[in-house]
Amino acid sequence: MSSTLYVDLSRIAHNLGVISDQVGQNIKKMAVVKDDAYGHGAVQVARHLEDSVDYFCVAKLAEAIELRESGIKKPILVFEIPPLGSEHLYQEHDITASISDLSVFERLEDGTLCHLHFDTGMFRLGMLPEQAESAREKMKEFDKLNYTGIYTHFANSDDPGHERVLRQLEVFKSIRSNFPDHLITHACNSGGLFFYGDEGTYFDAVRFGVSLFGYAPGETEISELEPAVEWVSHLVQVKKLKKGDAVGYGSRWTAPEDGWLGTIPVGYADGVFRTLSGKIQVEIAGQLYQQVGTISMDYMTVYLGKNCFEQGEPVVILRNGELSAKEWARIAGTIPYEITTTIHPKVKREYG
Ligand code: PLP
Repeated sequence: MSSTLYVDLSRIAHNLGVISDQVGQNIKKMAVVKDDAYGHGAVQVARHLEDSVDYFCVAKLAEAIELRESGIKKPILVFEIPPLGSEHLYQEHDITASISDLSVFERLEDGTLCHLHFDTGMFRLGMLPEQAESAREKMKEFDKLNYTGIYTHFANSDDPGHERVLRQLEVFKSIRSNFPDHLITHACNSGGLFFYGDEGTYFDAVRFGVSLFGYAPGETEISELEPAVEWVSHLVQVKKLKKGDAVGYGSRWTAPEDGWLGTIPVGYADGVFRTLSGKIQVEIAGQLYQQVGTISMDYMTVYLGKNCFEQGEPVVILRNGELSAKEWARIAGTIPYEITTTIHPKVKREYG
């Protein structure tokens, strides 16, 4: 095994507690476990949280079916527009469809659970405000569908005090007021729930992903949240370098003096972005060492200086603090979501 991603489920449960404290007991909790729970493992995360949440949300129908087939019983909301030809699967697996397009009403089978999804200013998925009237007519026409919810999604909620969030909220409230009371209403993602609670964004339920996995959305720190992953590999080879030896593709790093070089069997095909080359550190025997040279598809190298380690010496690639996904994201100019979701499925997940 080249490397293992250790996932601490108790930290994910802790983060759920932080979210719960933030919104209060009366607000329903919808855990977003799409894309393999942002790389953490959807089935294991869902099993661990099932008793403490009200809903799971996923991006694709196939992910929902996987959860059902793994024994998950709680309601599951799928964000995607139902794929053509797969409409019957929602009923078959007791899965909730999103109606993000007027054409979906007529495609779903009678009895299908569904949430109406309005696009109030994100301009991605969802029916537009001016289609609300038509949606109400469709509800009358297709009155055998099981309408259980209505929602929208914020584009700027990771940024506290953004006026577009308030504009979206106003639009959503005015749409909402024309639909039946019994529909569960939800708008917040992690940013919405941490930064816009005072604006009345919670409604009946909140949908959270990134904060569940321990990362604050956007730039603001939320100190109570705890990342839950530790990615560990080992040294597959240790070799002596002479001053001036140039390491890796493009010979982009040169040994400043005689010293030791360690090779780690993890590269960009595993999820360590090539753009991080020479910019991250790893931890070996409790000490940080600089990754050097170009990260290649299956390997990267680390400069050990005067310290020679045995082959097989454990190497921590990613963990809280200096080695965190947040830090990688900062260096790579991206967000922690992208770091954890691109840790390749071939990297074995172990749960504790
Ligand atoms: N709701 C929808 C519709 C989403 O697409 C997402 C994730 O992108 C979320 C909620 C959760 O967002 P976050 O991970 O920022 O909490």
